[in-house]
Amino acid sequence: MKPIQDLLKAFQDDLNHVKSTRELEGLRVKYLGKKGPVQELMKHLKDLTPEERPQFGNAVNELKKTIEETLTNLTDRLIHEEEKITLEKERIDITEPGRTHSLGAKHILTAFMDEILEVMISMGFSVQYGPDIETDYYNFEALNFAPDHPARDMQDTFYVGPDLLLKTHTSNVQMRVMEKEKPPIRIASPGRAFRNETITARSHVFFHQVEALYIDKGVSFKDLLSTLELFFFKLFHKKLEVRFRPSYFPFVEPGMEADVRCIICEGKGCNICKYTGWLEVLGAGMVHPNALKAGGIDPEIYSGYAWGMGLERLVMIKHGITDIRLFTENNMKFLRQFVSV
Ligand SMILES: [Zn+2]
Repeated sequence: MKPIQDLLKAFQDDLNHVKSTRELEGLRVKYLGKKGPVQELMKHLKDLTPEERPQFGNAVNELKKTIEETLTNLTDRLIHEEEKITLEKERIDITEPGRTHSLGAKHILTAFMDEILEVMISMGFSVQYGPDIETDYYNFEALNFAPDHPARDMQDTFYVGPDLLLKTHTSNVQMRVMEKEKPPIRIASPGRAFRNETITARSHVFFHQVEALYIDKGVSFKDLLSTLELFFFKLFHKKLEVRFRPSYFPFVEPGMEADVRCIICEGKGCNICKYTGWLEVLGAGMVHPNALKAGGIDPEIYSGYAWGMGLERLVMIKHGITDIRLFTENNMKFLRQFVSV
């Protein structure tokens, strides 16, 4: 009986080190396999007396049964525990907050341009776009800048060919529209403008403009004034006083620059308006008869107004930004301040 007890003890020792169902399976092969120790014990039967044999045989069978049952029970328990661990690993915590993705946002200039166009569309203007690379004709000549006209020097131009240039203003769209459409014409034209200037806090080689053009019978200077007042009211949600100062642009007559009552200090004087109470925001005027004629429109029948404003200037005024270069430096700390979503 001693070999049986020794084997049972060895089996129990082995059991203490088992950690997985795989190791249990290893024990089953080790002890109950065809060449395993339990099977070996049976070989001793022939050395025993006939009286001893049944007792020994029963004892070996008991041992075999004990080992089998122990292994089966333990295997069931371990499978259960392993499943629990797997489930725990795969558990989904539905109370955990979702991971957020950072969304892109519109650049402050794009966002403000959209606001301007929304206001202009609400006032009956339709949006028209023109090319960035433009011919001398549409950018200058058709707008009453004769070839030797000194006014061309007002706008330092990037030429990209003998007759091609980067448009210096969004007014290039005026003639393109006049050629295609008959009055009444009421368009807004957003776009980039390029000037060969030194980059400073107040000026850049490229910036954005929005052009307005309205041509119909009997359009007057008073229409220009009241339209601008309505435009600024809708854009800034407050009534802003508008004043004109005479100025010169070849494609308007009379030409003027428009100021609005300072949005920041409402006329009391601040550093944004340089303590004048007024902000210069755009150039405007009544469309020059020569420009109308170039577009195939009879100046005896029709009249119109046009204005062009710099987008960067308005955004700088609105937010108290003092350096135009910030818009194009891609500094996220600057840009993120204006994300509203
Ligand atoms: Zn002010």
